[in-house]
Amino acid sequence: MAGAFELGGYGMTAHNRAARTISVFGATGSVGRSTLDLIGRNAGDYEVLALTANSDVAALASLAREHKARLAVIADESLYADLRDALSGSDVEAAAGEDALVDAASLGADWTMAAIVGCAGLKPTLAALEQGRTVALANKESLVSAGGLMMQAAARHGAVLLPVDSEHNAIFQCLAGGRLEEARRIILTASGGPFRRHSLEEMRAITPEEAVRHPNWSMGAKISVDSATMMNKGLELIEAGHLFPIGLGKIEILVHPQSVIHSMVEYRDGSMLAQLGPPDMRVPIAHALAWPHRMDGPSDPLDLAAIAKLDFEAPDEVRFPALRIARQVGEAGGTLPAVMNAANEVAVAAFLARQIGFLDISAIVERVLSGYNGLTPTGIDDVLEADHLAREAARQLTGRVKA
Ligand code: NDP
Repeated sequence: MAGAFELGGYGMTAHNRAARTISVFGATGSVGRSTLDLIGRNAGDYEVLALTANSDVAALASLAREHKARLAVIADESLYADLRDALSGSDVEAAAGEDALVDAASLGADWTMAAIVGCAGLKPTLAALEQGRTVALANKESLVSAGGLMMQAAARHGAVLLPVDSEHNAIFQCLAGGRLEEARRIILTASGGPFRRHSLEEMRAITPEEAVRHPNWSMGAKISVDSATMMNKGLELIEAGHLFPIGLGKIEILVHPQSVIHSMVEYRDGSMLAQLGPPDMRVPIAHALAWPHRMDGPSDPLDLAAIAKLDFEAPDEVRFPALRIARQVGEAGGTLPAVMNAANEVAVAAFLARQIGFLDISAIVERVLSGYNGLTPTGIDDVLEADHLAREAARQLTGRVKA
């Protein structure tokens, strides 16, 4: 996290410039819309450069018009004409395709939100880091797959990488109270998802509708399923290992069903700092948007008297094997996290398409991983090749594996 960890114990020489020009990758998604909600409330302070989406032309065009973006990019190249038509009569330029996403990142916005879902976000996020400005990172899959390369790119180009994932944003805030070298452990909290109390037998019959219904957070479909399998926490473990290089052995996962404490840092003297907040992504996004200052946030304040009590329990790696798999993969490193992530993306998509059962997701990830040794990637192409091969392997399995 180049620059970001040098101010006030863990903070920030970084760019003192106020975030002025803004780009949002994944603008039509849950995080993208929350980001634009904050920007819309403070419209005079920001100039929107680029907004992107995958295939939702209507939503992208409408957001681009509303926020007076300079450029709207649709990743699906075949939708270029639709986007151009939807933007006709406006000043918004239309572009399409993967290269156009990278070009949009190269516009060099002062502040970029990386909120594409999945490894598809990797290239644009890297391109944004290479501009040496501020990148707010929600797209955890890119950091899991190519964390080493991304951290190196941030350092090389003097970019500031701000964690938006609520847990990592919480850790980042807790580290303002001390130094990472003085931390004894980091405690990553997990809600436990909607099936925290389900038996393995009950999990067999879980439907996509049940899996996307998170008890505390409203999120996109993929991350909601990841939360239900707890692969989300596994991805976050690896993400935290890159952002806060303390060693995975010092990063623990703790189930905290109320999702009030978003994570904690325990220091060598025994002090434990926690960050609390309502389960609203606009809180960590606002933190990243205003950093190193603070801005007014629109969410309802926490009512701790109404919440009354906070519960904690150890995670169960038998019912949620993704936790064990991710820790092993994170320790092994190399291209294995990219393989795990790609297999998981395919398996989650297959589950949402009702091709496989809920328990098959982790089983497929483990089966795909068993075919790999995990080389150390020398560049982005190695990561993308591992990602590609793992996707192919997972696609072959999604038709037949039953856990
Ligand atoms: P959503 O599914 O709601 O939105 C995903 C966004 O990415 C949409 O704009 C979508 O466009 C775009 N997109 C999807 N596939 C591609 C592709 N192949 N190429 C380019 N763009 C694509 O996801 P979320 O907002 O929930 O999550 C975004 C990221 O943030 C994920 O990595 C997630 O893990 C992370 N995150 C999310 C949190 C949340 O609360 N939602 C919390 C913490 C992290 P379109 O609409 O056209 O499909």
